[in-house]
Amino acid sequence: MPDLDRVVREIAEEMRARADRGDVATYIPELARVDPGCFGIAVVGGDGEVAVGGDADMPFSIQSVSKVFTLTLALGKIGNLLWKRVGREPSGSPFNSIVQLENEHGIPRNPFINAGAIAVTDVILSGHQPREALGEILRFMRFLSEDPSISIDEVVAASEQRTGFRNRALANYMKSFGVLENPVDYTLGVYFHHCAITMSCRQLAMAGRFLAHNGRNPSTGFSVVSPERARRINAIMLTCGHYDGSGEFAYRVGLPGKSGVGGGILAVAPGRASIAVWSPGLDASGNSHLGRIALEELTRRLGWSIFG
Ligand code: GLN
Repeated sequence: MPDLDRVVREIAEEMRARADRGDVATYIPELARVDPGCFGIAVVGGDGEVAVGGDADMPFSIQSVSKVFTLTLALGKIGNLLWKRVGREPSGSPFNSIVQLENEHGIPRNPFINAGAIAVTDVILSGHQPREALGEILRFMRFLSEDPSISIDEVVAASEQRTGFRNRALANYMKSFGVLENPVDYTLGVYFHHCAITMSCRQLAMAGRFLAHNGRNPSTGFSVVSPERARRINAIMLTCGHYDGSGEFAYRVGLPGKSGVGGGILAVAPGRASIAVWSPGLDASGNSHLGRIALEELTRRLGWSIFG
């Protein structure tokens, strides 16, 4: 893919040179230490070819990008029963919003806002000890990316454990409605730790391949989820993956995508490629500022928007 290689390299160079980089998240103290000058991109195509640019091999905190994978695991565990515990409509609210939960009787609007992701984590935890649930999530990430070195940054997890007052409020509130089955501290412990998984753009793009290829790993042919499930996870990524910036992301990039406050975005070009970008500076909605711009440039230059 010479054309793709060139486009990816050009975008990395352009992004590195830009002065507008957004603001690094500070509400998790450990994330505030990351260099806002970083930028990475990795694109993994169906035939296994990988195009990379910038800091594509530098590990970063995937944060809410992990919610795509916990959603996949929870659907694997209880199937459509999940939709009794969490909705699948865009929230139009910030990722950590509390007000909507009261109006909607403790049922989070979708699995990608914090409340929804905490409810999804609770589903994975049920019947297990926190350590086992976390092990399952980590094994899944290692399996998907074909990289046994992926791990959790305990310092980031501890940093969020100490300061995650809002997530604690969301979890306690859902517990009062009976939406969480497990002790709040256990569910939050697993949640904070899966958000603290550290991966590079290359590893993340590898992990997202099944979503771009009808639920299958294109290099092994191994099925991760059914084609129908992959399609539906992509639909939720498109409508909910960027919180109250989801409409803007669809408008500009035109791909299913999921962001995290570490500055990473996983995007899916169905039938074509799995893409990961990383730039730690965020926009007002908590989504990577240059990450979004880079993806917009990629889809524009390659004609990859799902909207034609
Ligand atoms: N761990 C972060 C939190 O719960 C994840 C948020 C995000 O990446 N948008 O606040």
